[in-house]
Amino acid sequence: MSNVQVATGVINLSEGDPGLVDEIKELGGEELLECIQCAKCAAACPMVLAGFSFFNKRVIQAILLGLRDALLDDSSIWACQSCNRCTEVCPREVNPFEIIQAMRRVAIREFALPTLSIEGLKSLYDTGHAVYLAGAGSTRAKVGLPEKPYSTVANPKALKELQAVIRQTALADLGIIPMDESDVTETCEV
Ligand code: SF4
Ligand code: SF4
Repeated sequence: MSNVQVATGVINLSEGDPGLVDEIKELGGEELLECIQCAKCAAACPMVLAGFSFFNKRVIQAILLGLRDALLDDSSIWACQSCNRCTEVCPREVNPFEIIQAMRRVAIREFALPTLSIEGLKSLYDTGHAVYLAGAGSTRAKVGLPEKPYSTVANPKALKELQAVIRQTALADLGIIPMDESDVTETCEV
């Protein structure tokens, strides 16, 4: 068989990348080859309900077939909600969630990530939250919450420490978000 029908259409298997499996194993998906494609993880996955082409079971299938370009050309891997249901139900302890994270690492290495993800990374560096609603302070106060959550937003020293850690990661080497050492108290204003 030289072609296979997957969610995104017919893909020529001769174009598969045999090195993808080892790359995923190296990046955190060590149990990849234990998958028996039983689909229990798919039955528990919100990505399926939302209609994404590549959810946990299909991501694993595509990796096993070496379909690097098909996975990188599709935004599905970024839709994982990190709910970990798939890990709980898998009878083979494959940890499909970690395999999706490993595939994201492959994508980041190749700069194949959506703009929204870059915004999330920038927000993580600037505030300590991948998603943070700046300007929500007065709304929080109306419902009896402190204007700043008890996190890096209200603790500039902790944010500085977090930023120092992030600057030591591979993310800094990629250079996809600015990582200056400016006065973080300014970035924490709500
Ligand atoms: S990852 Fe686990 S639950 Fe999902 S298809 Fe493979 S063996 Fe089944
Ligand atoms: S962790 Fe991701 S892949 Fe696993 S069930 Fe949740 S959304 Fe689906």
